[in-house]
Amino acid sequence: MSHITVIGAGITGITTAYALLKRGYRVTVFERHAYPAMETSFANGGQLSVSNAEVWNHSSTIIKGLKWMLRKDAPLLVHPAPSWHKTTWMGEFIGQIPRYHANTIETVRLALTAREHLFEIAAREDIEFNLEKRGILHVYYDRPSFEHAARVSKMLKEGGLDRHPVTPTEISAIEPALNGQFYGGFFTPSDATGDIHKFTRGLSDVATRLGMVFISDAVVEDISSKVGGGVTIVWTQGQNRATSHRESANFDATIICAGVGTRRLAAMVGDRVNIYPVKGYSITVQLDSAASKNAAPWVSLLDDKAKIVTSRLGANRLRVAGTAEFRGENRDIRADRIRLLVEWSRRLFPHVETDNVVPWAGLRPMMPNMLPRVASGSMPGIFYNSGHGHLGWTMSAATAEIIADRLAATLPAAKLPVASAA
Ligand SMILES: Cc1cc2nc3c(=O)[nH]c(=O)nc-3n(C[C@H](O)[C@H](O)[C@H](O)COP(=O)(O)OP(=O)(O)OC[C@H]3O[C@@H](n4cnc5c(N)ncnc54)[C@H](O)[C@@H]3O)c2cc1C
Repeated sequence: MSHITVIGAGITGITTAYALLKRGYRVTVFERHAYPAMETSFANGGQLSVSNAEVWNHSSTIIKGLKWMLRKDAPLLVHPAPSWHKTTWMGEFIGQIPRYHANTIETVRLALTAREHLFEIAAREDIEFNLEKRGILHVYYDRPSFEHAARVSKMLKEGGLDRHPVTPTEISAIEPALNGQFYGGFFTPSDATGDIHKFTRGLSDVATRLGMVFISDAVVEDISSKVGGGVTIVWTQGQNRATSHRESANFDATIICAGVGTRRLAAMVGDRVNIYPVKGYSITVQLDSAASKNAAPWVSLLDDKAKIVTSRLGANRLRVAGTAEFRGENRDIRADRIRLLVEWSRRLFPHVETDNVVPWAGLRPMMPNMLPRVASGSMPGIFYNSGHGHLGWTMSAATAEIIADRLAATLPAAKLPVASAA
């Protein structure tokens, strides 16, 4: 049986491991943390949002970005210190503006396929992750942004997604908890939300029952493609420096799903995967009182101006997430960015108590064209499923299938697919 290693146990790594197991491969996953889904797949916005498929490579983003550089409370912050990585990434991001339309449509298609796969997996394997199929509502405060959204809707439709305009009265009817003066909105009833961490952990348990070997506290330090086939992985095992040690093993192939760590690993095998870590924040509002539970929204929202989204994660939690920061691989949780999310929540949901919120920061693994790299590498036995940016939760279930099929085309599993673990 062919033995494949997956590097990284976020949503992309675990969906990939599952897709490989279903095709009959032997699978070993390396993860530097003690558990799956401890980095970007920990506390994101929760949206399974085909309706958010518009890529950011648009001239208006550049203009807004320049204006925002002068404001500390802007939704997008670019740290002024120059870095070669940031500069080249931004150059390539601008270079992709002519592909804005095509890349948006490609994202819609991936996201639509992923949504079906994800729902199927969750039902088949009985994974509980606070899935809410109540749609996603985008809201706009002025006419120009609403009209831009109307143009985006046309592109989304080309990709196969229906979302429709709604008036302020309809906004109130769709989500009565929402407070604000809106020009209009767009509603996508087919979109959904759920807890990425719960899903990834649940699927990881299923994969373990199907035979996945999970090597935790293992930092992959080196990858090499062997002459004559296969790859060698070198890793440091153990979280404690005094007792950690180096190990190595050979596999038939590897799929790199390492989020913001992918760029460094790719360079080891001669590939350039120009992922930049785009930081974002979330708060998980604990809805402790009956009043808070009643005042919190169930329909998921996207406030286009603030670049903030919400997801109701069961009766007791409201996730509020957003903003973007270009500051390299920096995971600090800034109090002023968390305050923005708290103040926004109080404005839009005045009766939700924010005395008990859990702050978090994560790094979106973003490619300059905002499309994930789902491809083989330049050396034999190397594959990538990484760089899903702001939509990894939305797209991973599709890209896992694509990369597993790509690998299967070159390296048969030599075994019949296994049955469901349920
Ligand atoms: C604030 C915020 C809100 C978001 N909201 C949404 C949303 O609403 N909807 C949506 O679709 N997406 C959203 N996203 C994006 C989504 O969360 C990410 O795209 C997704 O989690 C990325 O998954 P991943 O598996 O690629 O990366 P990760 O989850 O980071 O997993 C990569 C794993 O690789 C491991 N790793 C890296 N290097 C090594 C190494 N050398 N050795 C061993 N292990 C290694 C890491 O420890 C990590 O666990 C949001 C992101 C942020 C930050």
